[in-house]
Amino acid sequence: MEEAESTSDADPDTTGDAGAGTAENTGDSGTAENAAITDEFPVETGTDESDPSAESGRNDAARDTDPSGTDGLTADGDGTSPSDSSSDSSSSSDANSPSESDSDPVTAADIDIEESIGPSASGDDSKTDLGLDEVVLDDDDSQGLFDDLLSGEPIFENKEVLRPSYTPHELPHRTEQINQMATILVSALRGETPSNILIYGKTGTGKTASAKFVSQELESTSKKYDVPCEVEYINCEVTDTQYRVLAQLANKFIEKNQDVIDRRLSDLNELRSEVVDAADPATTLATTDLETIDAVEDRIEELEDDSEEMESVPMTGWPTDRVYSTFFDAVDYEERVVVIMLDEIDKLVEKSGDDTLYNLSRMNSELNNSRISIMGISNDLKFTDFLDPRVKSSLGEEEIVFPPYDANQLRDILQHRANVAFKKDALTDDVIPLCAAFAAQEHGDARRALDLLRTAGELAERGQADTVEESHVRKAQDKIELDRVVEVVRTLPTQSKIVLFATILLEKNGVRNVNTGEVFNIYKRLCEEIDADVLTQRRVTDLISELDMLGIVNAVVVSKGRYGRTKEISLSVPIDETEAVLLSDSRLGDIENAQPFVQARFDN
Ligand code: ADP
Ligand code: MG
Repeated sequence: MEEAESTSDADPDTTGDAGAGTAENTGDSGTAENAAITDEFPVETGTDESDPSAESGRNDAARDTDPSGTDGLTADGDGTSPSDSSSDSSSSSDANSPSESDSDPVTAADIDIEESIGPSASGDDSKTDLGLDEVVLDDDDSQGLFDDLLSGEPIFENKEVLRPSYTPHELPHRTEQINQMATILVSALRGETPSNILIYGKTGTGKTASAKFVSQELESTSKKYDVPCEVEYINCEVTDTQYRVLAQLANKFIEKNQDVIDRRLSDLNELRSEVVDAADPATTLATTDLETIDAVEDRIEELEDDSEEMESVPMTGWPTDRVYSTFFDAVDYEERVVVIMLDEIDKLVEKSGDDTLYNLSRMNSELNNSRISIMGISNDLKFTDFLDPRVKSSLGEEEIVFPPYDANQLRDILQHRANVAFKKDALTDDVIPLCAAFAAQEHGDARRALDLLRTAGELAERGQADTVEESHVRKAQDKIELDRVVEVVRTLPTQSKIVLFATILLEKNGVRNVNTGEVFNIYKRLCEEIDADVLTQRRVTDLISELDMLGIVNAVVVSKGRYGRTKEISLSVPIDETEAVLLSDSRLGDIENAQPFVQARFDN
């Protein structure tokens, strides 16, 4: 869940970047709309008027460094869009005054620009001057819509470092767990099969980050000593069926095998032509294990056959046992030790049972050349309860627990990342401790702590503040909490949404001490309106309890004296935002005239 949330997370700063990226274009066209917008922000026009030339000069510098800076860093972080960063920095190069860029502190973005422009652009004074003139002219055309937004000293040095996708090189307070993993996995480097490992811990306790760190170390060490050891990482939240897990593994090993085959074939083809040309073929062949040219030909043919036989597994459609045997053959094609990391393994078992684990864990007894070892990572401490006892004992040969971080540990973690992520002195003293304290309350979740810090920085940046302050952290906390609510509400089953909507309608109409019966009445009418099944009042009461557990409503049991007991229900989330989310559901969006339903209650 966590991974998906973070990737699909509507990214506030992407929009920010897009805005910055288009600054120049928008600046060129001084349209009436722009003027209208600018009028709404008198401060912006005011600054422009005070000293137009100086202002525009400063803004140019900011404009030239900022958008490309952000883009350059985005490209760095993702490693996916180098073309973006180079095209952006070359467009800004024309306008780059050398004196201004000299006085700026050197940032990673500057280095990017230098590299992509090359020495000629920055060394050629006349060209630069001309560029500056052009920009001043450009700027006269613009209404300054973006200038002020860009002029503030940016808070971030490298925001990517705070994102969940970033794998830190240092993991404070996880040395013990990392060493435990390494001690077990080192067998793989000796050509032995490591024990299977099961890792437990709540979300945000550094399991994925630590596992990835260890796997990188393991692979690089295996390359260094040239031992055949490989790590395959699978996120079972995404790859959540036996078919997909086995298919992904099969295809990875088929790809690896193809590479090996291609390399051998090219060596053999070279050998063949050497032998053909050689005066004395026997001497040429003496260094190989092939005695005659026919043997070389045979080996080539063999490899070509192998290569043809290796058919990759389609994403769907094959019977599972065929996928399994394809994986089996692919992994066993070469001598090697393979560590399969199954992250979020609890999701796999929840969704598709423990067959995958059963099949994987008994493979070693049948493999001839290779050995596999499984490292399962689970957020759910109890997930082994659902496993077949054989799978459970095999998988849990070694167990490693990742305890929640306390506030002090979270502080260390944040401090490490903040040093790289923020400009010097961008954080006031209480920011990190407050983020750590909030996240410590969230079961010591480092992901939450980093989200808070990043969001606080973004809010400060948006508010054009010079530093991130305590108030930004508090606002960030509210924002993240609201985002969570929106996500929870959005993904509720329709029936629960209707129940929640009934509660909202009652509250919005000023009904106090809403009770279950009242919710049920409105619920029933809503169901009729949208043609949904009407559940019994008992079921609706259960749904209310579930909403209570999710923290969306608060339901307290109150005694009504001789009328028995009832539940009083109040909303624990912001009413307008929640209603908006509910109405964005196509079924609930169909509800018209919600008002009369509630009126009806008073009429009764
Ligand atoms: P889990 O897999 O246990 O849910 P992650 O490994 O994904 O948690 O960690 C969540 C976030 O916190 C990631 O961004 C990760 O880089 C960061 N993180 C967790 N533990 C540490 C640590 N000890 N040092 C630095 N960053 C950490
Ligand atoms: Mg994880």
